[in-house]
Amino acid sequence: MKLLIIGAQGSGKGTQSKLISEKHHIPHLSTGDLLREAYEKKTKAGIEAHKYIEQGNLAPDEIINEILKQELADKLAFILDGYPRNLKQAENLDKITKIDKVIYLKINDKEAIGRLSSRRMCSKCKIIYGINRVPLEENTCDVCGQALFTREDDTEEKIKTRLKDFKEKTFLILERYKSKVIEIDASKSPEEIFEEIEKKVFGD
Ligand code: ADP
Repeated sequence: MKLLIIGAQGSGKGTQSKLISEKHHIPHLSTGDLLREAYEKKTKAGIEAHKYIEQGNLAPDEIINEILKQELADKLAFILDGYPRNLKQAENLDKITKIDKVIYLKINDKEAIGRLSSRRMCSKCKIIYGINRVPLEENTCDVCGQALFTREDDTEEKIKTRLKDFKEKTFLILERYKSKVIEIDASKSPEEIFEEIEKKVFGD
């Protein structure tokens, strides 16, 4: 199955994508993770995109379109998280492949900001910690023991810019894929959200 997961920052896209990927053996493609990895590897695209990411802005379409083309080339199933973010990217995606379903994680700003300001990540396992998942040992990943980090774009000001981008650009994508959209209440706990996705998207 080819899935898109769409939702404002803090809606739990990363957490739910990981759960879906593990349970249904579908690769999780997160453009945010891919761009952060590209920056760590110091590729040309990674360094260029980082100039935008660190300001809380979207990276240029050309960079992200190219990365995505390579990632999707050999995949028959996937859960795509973080792409498309605007109508141009959606048009590009529809030229490359056909999406089956779109999961929309619906959340309000207050809840999203609360979650993001306490968010920490493991750079190795990509596990996301926060209000709903507190690490057993402070600032340490429960699974691999690696130190957790706070994303540089999870500051109040940058969160506001990113949420604005979501409303102005990404939200339009839901209209484009209207017949494929499955809306999920993302204000609940990760377990409850996953249960709803299982029922509504996978039908069990
Ligand atoms: P979030 O959705 O919480 O903002 P992501 O990890 O998905 O976080 O993305 C982090 C940043 O990477 C974005 O703020 C943006 O700068 C960049 N990015 C990710 N996906 C795209 C995309 N499809 N187009 C442009 N920029 C992107």
